[in-house]
Amino acid sequence: MTHSLFISDLHLSEDTPQIEQGLTALLKKEGDIDRLFLLGDIFEAWIGDDDDSPLTLRFADTMTRVAEGGTQIFFTRGNRDFLLGQSYLDRFNATLLGDSVCVEVAGESTLLMHGDLLCSDDVDYLAFRAIAHNPEWQVEMLAKSLEERRQLAKHLRAMSKEAASNKAEDIMDVNEATVRTVMSEHGVSRLIHGHTHRPCRHPLQNAERIVLGDWNNTTWCLRERDETLELFEFKL
Ligand code: MN
Repeated sequence: MTHSLFISDLHLSEDTPQIEQGLTALLKKEGDIDRLFLLGDIFEAWIGDDDDSPLTLRFADTMTRVAEGGTQIFFTRGNRDFLLGQSYLDRFNATLLGDSVCVEVAGESTLLMHGDLLCSDDVDYLAFRAIAHNPEWQVEMLAKSLEERRQLAKHLRAMSKEAASNKAEDIMDVNEATVRTVMSEHGVSRLIHGHTHRPCRHPLQNAERIVLGDWNNTTWCLRERDETLELFEFKL
Protein backbone atom coordinates (compact mmCIF):
# COMPACT_ATOMS: atom_id res chain seq x y z
CA MET A 1 0.00 0.00 0.00
CA THR A 2 1.41 3.34 -1.06
CA HIS A 3 0.32 6.63 0.41
CA SER A 4 1.91 9.68 -1.22
CA LEU A 5 1.19 13.38 -1.15
CA PHE A 6 2.06 15.92 -3.83
CA ILE A 7 2.06 19.61 -2.95
CA SER A 8 3.55 22.78 -4.45
CA ASP A 9 3.34 26.55 -4.37
CA LEU A 10 3.10 27.09 -0.62
CA HIS A 11 5.15 30.27 -1.14
CA LEU A 12 6.27 30.21 2.47
CA SER A 13 7.67 33.40 3.95
CA GLU A 14 7.72 34.99 7.40
CA ASP A 15 4.32 36.47 6.46
CA THR A 16 2.61 33.08 6.10
CA PRO A 17 2.45 31.40 9.54
CA GLN A 18 -1.07 30.15 8.70
CA ILE A 19 0.31 28.18 5.74
CA GLU A 20 2.96 26.57 7.93
CA GLN A 21 0.15 25.61 10.30
CA GLY A 22 -1.84 24.28 7.37
CA LEU A 23 1.05 22.08 6.31
CA THR A 24 1.42 20.68 9.81
CA ALA A 25 -2.34 20.08 9.98
CA LEU A 26 -2.39 18.33 6.61
CA LEU A 27 0.52 16.06 7.52
CA LYS A 28 -1.08 15.18 10.84
CA LYS A 29 -4.45 14.45 9.26
CA GLU A 30 -2.90 12.20 6.61
CA GLY A 31 -1.06 10.10 9.16
CA ASP A 32 1.48 7.62 7.81
CA ILE A 33 2.83 8.90 4.51
CA ASP A 34 5.26 6.87 2.42
CA ARG A 35 6.31 9.63 0.05
CA LEU A 36 6.00 13.41 0.20
CA PHE A 37 6.65 15.25 -3.06
CA LEU A 38 7.35 18.97 -2.74
CA LEU A 39 7.01 20.17 -6.32
CA GLY A 40 8.51 23.64 -6.15
CA ASP A 41 7.83 27.14 -4.89
CA ILE A 42 7.53 25.77 -1.40
CA PHE A 43 9.33 28.99 -0.47
CA GLU A 44 8.51 32.46 -1.77
CA ALA A 45 12.24 33.04 -2.15
CA TRP A 46 15.43 31.09 -1.53
CA ILE A 47 18.73 32.89 -1.16
CA GLY A 48 20.95 29.87 -0.58
CA ASP A 49 21.21 26.80 1.62
CA ASP A 50 23.31 28.80 4.09
CA ASP A 51 20.29 30.98 4.92
CA ASP A 52 19.82 30.84 8.67
CA SER A 53 16.43 32.57 8.80
CA PRO A 54 13.90 31.25 11.35
CA LEU A 55 11.64 30.08 8.51
CA THR A 56 14.26 27.80 6.94
CA LEU A 57 15.07 26.34 10.36
CA ARG A 58 11.40 25.78 11.26
CA PHE A 59 10.71 24.11 7.92
CA ALA A 60 13.72 21.81 8.34
CA ASP A 61 12.44 20.88 11.81
CA THR A 62 8.98 20.06 10.46
CA MET A 63 10.46 17.95 7.67
CA THR A 64 12.84 16.21 10.05
CA ARG A 65 9.84 15.00 12.06
CA VAL A 66 8.17 13.84 8.86
CA ALA A 67 11.28 11.97 7.76
CA GLU A 68 11.66 10.40 11.21
CA GLY A 69 8.12 9.07 10.81
CA GLY A 70 9.37 7.02 7.87
CA THR A 71 8.39 9.30 4.98
CA GLN A 72 10.64 9.68 1.95
CA ILE A 73 10.75 13.35 0.94
CA PHE A 74 11.44 14.58 -2.60
CA PHE A 75 11.94 18.17 -3.72
CA THR A 76 11.67 19.77 -7.15
CA ARG A 77 12.85 23.35 -7.49
CA GLY A 78 10.37 26.02 -8.50
CA ASN A 79 11.00 29.40 -10.08
CA ARG A 80 11.09 30.97 -6.59
CA ASP A 81 13.25 28.47 -4.77
CA PHE A 82 15.47 27.57 -7.73
CA LEU A 83 18.63 28.02 -5.65
CA LEU A 84 17.62 25.38 -3.13
CA GLY A 85 20.14 22.58 -3.09
CA GLN A 86 20.88 19.13 -1.77
CA SER A 87 22.77 20.46 1.26
CA TYR A 88 19.59 21.97 2.75
CA LEU A 89 17.68 18.80 1.91
CA ASP A 90 20.35 16.70 3.64
CA ARG A 91 19.17 18.16 6.94
CA PHE A 92 16.05 16.04 6.65
CA ASN A 93 17.23 13.30 4.35
CA ALA A 94 15.28 14.53 1.32
CA THR A 95 16.18 13.97 -2.31
CA LEU A 96 16.51 16.72 -4.89
CA LEU A 97 14.75 15.84 -8.14
CA GLY A 98 15.61 17.23 -11.57
CA ASP A 99 13.37 19.61 -13.52
CA SER A 100 11.45 16.71 -15.06
CA VAL A 101 11.51 13.30 -13.47
CA CYS A 102 9.49 10.14 -14.09
CA VAL A 103 8.23 8.34 -11.00
CA GLU A 104 5.85 5.41 -10.56
CA VAL A 105 2.56 6.86 -9.26
CA ALA A 106 -0.67 4.89 -8.87
CA GLY A 107 0.73 2.10 -11.01
CA GLU A 108 1.89 4.31 -13.86
CA SER A 109 5.07 6.08 -14.86
CA THR A 110 4.29 9.72 -14.16
CA LEU A 111 6.18 12.87 -15.08
CA LEU A 112 6.71 15.35 -12.25
CA MET A 113 7.63 18.99 -12.93
CA HIS A 114 7.26 22.32 -11.21
CA GLY A 115 5.54 23.63 -14.34
CA ASP A 116 7.39 26.83 -15.22
CA LEU A 117 9.03 25.11 -18.21
CA LEU A 118 5.58 24.31 -19.60
CA CYS A 119 4.70 28.01 -19.81
CA SER A 120 6.69 28.39 -23.00
CA ASP A 121 4.73 31.48 -24.13
CA ASP A 122 6.31 33.46 -21.31
CA VAL A 123 9.51 34.25 -23.20
CA ASP A 124 10.65 37.01 -20.79
CA TYR A 125 10.54 34.61 -17.88
CA LEU A 126 12.34 31.86 -19.83
CA ALA A 127 15.10 34.35 -20.71
CA PHE A 128 15.52 35.20 -17.03
CA ARG A 129 15.44 31.51 -16.16
CA ALA A 130 18.28 30.76 -18.57
CA ILE A 131 20.44 33.39 -16.84
CA ALA A 132 19.51 32.35 -13.32
CA HIS A 133 20.23 28.70 -14.05
CA ASN A 134 23.69 29.46 -15.40
CA PRO A 135 26.18 27.92 -12.94
CA GLU A 136 28.46 30.98 -13.12
CA TRP A 137 25.57 33.31 -12.25
CA GLN A 138 24.70 31.07 -9.32
CA VAL A 139 28.26 30.98 -7.99
CA GLU A 140 28.42 34.76 -8.20
CA MET A 141 25.07 35.10 -6.46
CA LEU A 142 25.90 32.68 -3.65
CA ALA A 143 29.21 34.47 -3.02
CA LYS A 144 27.31 37.59 -1.90
CA SER A 145 26.52 38.11 1.76
CA LEU A 146 23.18 36.85 3.10
CA GLU A 147 22.09 40.45 3.61
CA GLU A 148 22.90 41.39 0.00
CA ARG A 149 21.07 38.32 -1.24
CA ARG A 150 18.01 39.17 0.90
CA GLN A 151 17.87 42.60 -0.70
CA LEU A 152 18.26 41.17 -4.19
CA ALA A 153 15.54 38.59 -3.59
CA LYS A 154 13.17 41.36 -2.46
CA HIS A 155 13.97 43.33 -5.58
CA LEU A 156 13.48 40.33 -7.88
CA ARG A 157 10.17 39.53 -6.21
CA ALA A 158 8.87 43.04 -6.75
CA MET A 159 9.97 42.93 -10.38
CA SER A 160 8.34 39.55 -10.95
CA LYS A 161 5.05 40.75 -9.40
CA GLU A 162 5.01 43.77 -11.64
CA ALA A 163 5.82 41.69 -14.73
CA ALA A 164 3.05 39.21 -13.86
CA SER A 165 0.49 41.99 -13.48
CA ASN A 166 1.26 43.16 -17.02
CA LYS A 167 1.02 39.74 -18.65
CA ALA A 168 -2.03 38.25 -20.33
CA GLU A 169 -3.60 35.38 -18.39
CA ASP A 170 -2.92 32.78 -21.08
CA ILE A 171 0.79 33.63 -21.27
CA MET A 172 1.12 32.50 -17.67
CA ASP A 173 -0.64 29.19 -18.32
CA VAL A 174 0.93 26.13 -19.90
CA ASN A 175 1.34 25.87 -23.65
CA GLU A 176 -0.64 22.80 -24.73
CA ALA A 177 1.81 21.89 -27.50
CA THR A 178 4.71 22.02 -25.03
CA VAL A 179 2.76 19.72 -22.69
CA ARG A 180 2.22 17.20 -25.49
CA THR A 181 5.88 17.35 -26.54
CA VAL A 182 7.24 16.94 -23.01
CA MET A 183 4.90 14.05 -22.24
CA SER A 184 5.73 12.20 -25.44
CA GLU A 185 9.48 12.77 -24.95
CA HIS A 186 9.19 11.05 -21.59
CA GLY A 187 6.72 8.45 -22.87
CA VAL A 188 4.20 9.08 -20.11
CA SER A 189 0.44 9.38 -20.05
CA ARG A 190 0.33 11.31 -16.80
CA LEU A 191 1.88 14.65 -15.81
CA ILE A 192 1.71 16.28 -12.39
CA HIS A 193 2.80 19.89 -11.96
CA GLY A 194 2.10 23.12 -10.09
CA HIS A 195 3.22 26.69 -10.76
CA THR A 196 0.15 28.05 -12.58
CA HIS A 197 -2.06 28.15 -9.46
CA ARG A 198 -4.91 26.61 -11.47
CA PRO A 199 -5.66 23.34 -9.68
CA CYS A 200 -7.48 20.94 -11.96
CA ARG A 201 -7.39 17.46 -13.45
CA HIS A 202 -7.29 17.83 -17.22
CA PRO A 203 -8.16 14.73 -19.23
CA LEU A 204 -6.07 14.52 -22.40
CA GLN A 205 -6.29 11.94 -25.15
CA ASN A 206 -5.59 8.69 -23.24
CA ALA A 207 -3.68 10.76 -20.73
CA GLU A 208 -4.07 13.19 -17.88
CA ARG A 209 -2.46 16.42 -16.68
CA ILE A 210 -2.94 17.12 -12.99
CA VAL A 211 -2.30 20.67 -11.76
CA LEU A 212 -1.69 21.26 -8.07
CA GLY A 213 -2.98 24.46 -6.48
CA ASP A 214 -1.28 27.20 -4.53
CA TRP A 215 -1.84 27.58 -0.81
CA ASN A 216 -3.65 30.64 0.33
CA ASN A 217 -6.84 30.29 2.31
CA THR A 218 -6.99 26.64 1.35
CA THR A 219 -4.39 23.98 0.97
CA TRP A 220 -4.27 21.90 -2.19
CA CYS A 221 -2.96 18.41 -2.27
CA LEU A 222 -2.88 15.41 -4.54
CA ARG A 223 -3.05 12.11 -2.70
CA GLU A 224 -1.98 8.74 -4.05
CA ARG A 225 -3.43 5.75 -2.26
CA ASP A 226 -2.43 2.62 -4.13
CA GLU A 227 -4.06 2.92 -7.57
CA THR A 228 -6.19 5.97 -6.84
CA LEU A 229 -5.39 9.66 -7.10
CA GLU A 230 -7.41 12.41 -5.48
CA LEU A 231 -6.92 16.17 -5.80
CA PHE A 232 -8.45 17.84 -2.78
CA GLU A 233 -8.44 21.01 -0.72
CA PHE A 234 -9.26 21.89 2.84
CA LYS A 235 -9.72 25.25 4.51
CA LEU A 236 -6.92 26.42 6.79
MN1 MN B 1 6.17 28.71 -9.73
